[in-house]
Formats: sequence, C-alpha cells, structure tokens
Amino acid sequence: MSGIAAPDGHVTIGILALQGAFDAHARMLSRFGVTTTLVRKPEQLDAVDGLVIPGGESTTFLKHLERAGFFDALQAFVHAKPTFGTCAGTILLADEVVGPAQRSLQALDVTVERNAYGRQNDSRVLQAETLLPGGPLEMVYIRAPRILRTGDCVEVLAQREGSPTLVRQGHLLAATFHPELSDDTRVHQLFVDAVRTAVR
Ligand code: GLN
Repeated sequence: MSGIAAPDGHVTIGILALQGAFDAHARMLSRFGVTTTLVRKPEQLDAVDGLVIPGGESTTFLKHLERAGFFDALQAFVHAKPTFGTCAGTILLADEVVGPAQRSLQALDVTVERNAYGRQNDSRVLQAETLLPGGPLEMVYIRAPRILRTGDCVEVLAQREGSPTLVRQGHLLAATFHPELSDDTRVHQLFVDAVRTAVR
C-alpha cells in the first residue's frame, strides 16, 4: 500500500500509464518479483518506490500531465526517487529538449533531440556492447531521440553512432531504446536493483 519498504525488502514500482508502451514494462517487471502499479493519477506516486516512464509520444504525455497538478507531482517524484525513462520517458526526464523545444521535467542533465535518427517512422533493432556485464545487448529503437549532450554527473552505459543511448545519473536511469521489448532483462534488472537499494 505504501512506499515504505516492507520488512522483506519488497518494492512497488509504478509505471506511468497515461499512454504509450506501459504493458510491456509491466510484463518485464513481473519477472523480478516486484509489485507493479499502473500510475494514472498523481496521488498514486505516493505509493510507489520507483517509477518507469515508458515510451510513447512525449507531447501526448505532456498534454495528460497538464491535468490536476500531475506535472508538478511527477517533477517532485523524479527529482527524489528512482525513475527509469525509456524513449519518450527519456525526453520527459531531460533538462533540455530540442527538435522542437518542449517542456520537460528537467531532472536528467542531458539535451535530447526528438526523432533524431531519420524519418518519423524510423525503427531499428541493433546489437551493441554496453558497460553491463553479459555481452552485446539488443536495442529496439522506435522513432528514437538522440542524446546530444550529457552533464558531468551522467554516466554513459551504451552508445549508438557515438551518442549515448543508456545513461545513469544517481537515481535516474534512461534509455533512448525500448529494453522492455527485448527478452534481455539486464536493463530492468539494473533499475530494480536501484529501487531495492534506495528503499533499504
Ligand atoms: N518520438 C517520440 C517522441 O518524440 C518518442 C518515441 C518513443 O517513445 N518510442 O516523444
């Protein structure tokens, strides 16, 4: 019920479910024995230990977030608690968005360009080495943003064509691809571990 850690260290992870690819994140997280909650109202943020902001369309997310103080509640959450953004989620977390400029939560010290890899419908599955142990990682890109700049406190865990695609900054993790659409659990494992550490 609450965001306070259960005695056994059990954690509850919210998935922002205003639109976009939240189901696949729920399926992926169910493999780790954590409780997941689909977050559709700002007050639900009080009851989760960590949050996934999924892919989708960042402009549509922003429209939904304009309702009833949701943007402010989300901004406070992502500045304080473990949050994992994928694709549009990364755009929302960024300090600065270009192509075109739009409002963001300004939590992650990066500049991102939307739809930066070509045509609006550009999608691609690539394999690349990352700093995660276990060999190359499959990365599903769907109208992906490109991270143009990272601040000093941002750790780059993977890249595509010289641009960061998986980054970590303290309690924040962000991917410009969709790890929830691959069978590989390593990226979600990293986030679940961060949430478990944070509640301990
Ligand atoms: N192109 C989308 C945006 O700008 C992001 C795409 C995605 O999340 N797969 O918000």
